Amino acid sequence: MTELELIIDLHKNSERQGPGSENDTLKALEILNLPSDQKLKVADIGCGSGGQTISLAKNLNGQITAVDLFPEFLNELNQKSQNLGLTDKILTLEKSMDDLPFTEGEFDLIWSEGAIYNIGFENGLKKWKDYLKVGGYLAVSEITWITQTRPKEIEEFWKSEYPEINVASNKIKQLENNGYSLVGYFYLSQDSWIETYYKPMQARFENFLKRHNNSELARKVVEDNQAEIDLYQKFKDYYSYGFYIARKNE
Ligand code: SAM
Repeated sequence: MTELELIIDLHKNSERQGPGSENDTLKALEILNLPSDQKLKVADIGCGSGGQTISLAKNLNGQITAVDLFPEFLNELNQKSQNLGLTDKILTLEKSMDDLPFTEGEFDLIWSEGAIYNIGFENGLKKWKDYLKVGGYLAVSEITWITQTRPKEIEEFWKSEYPEINVASNKIKQLENNGYSLVGYFYLSQDSWIETYYKPMQARFENFLKRHNNSELARKVVEDNQAEIDLYQKFKDYYSYGFYIARKNE
């Protein structure tokens, strides 16, 4: 197995592939206060195994197209939606988020939790705007500094991992400069990193290593993920995922 295949294997049986929680998804939905008397067209981009897709399907009157690059995650989501009787509300699509087959003004709502960074926040805002109706909504979570200053070590780490990391006020400016109006903003609590993402991941390490005969590459995957957790524990007061909810202007 390649390293990428191992990473997918470690993450695919989990509720989420990134920080977030059902509470956060519902909080963002509540900010939107969408009508329940009309059927909405929704895209969930970078859906992973669909933790948030299932919450959206349960709480929205609409049809959700859930997009991801990796079929392993989409298979998990299809299985969950079958078990929950939600297949008429969730359609999965294996596609890259920078090459979507959608038409102009097709969607009432574009959702994306912890995934837009794959093509960059500003690039994603611009690209996906075409697929939204005027007055349609974008709800995205994105890695964000939660303080104006921070220790050099974490600043340098994120600047090399993802140079687009910024404070919320600058992310909001990018939304406004690209034809959106902010409807609401909050950032994820530490529980949404530790309780719903990191702890369940750590609980899978042992079986994952057994499944892969404790191979060198499998151990590297575990070590890399543990290093990410250690870094978060050390610097969790300085960054989180910001949840940005915005409306597309005329
Ligand atoms: N939204 C899910 C969640 O919060 O649990 C998954 C978040 S995970 C951090 C990022 C997701 O983006 C993964 O499922 C990954 O497969 C997907 N992804 C990465 N690159 C992508 C691309 N170019 N197009 C579509 N999905 C992509």
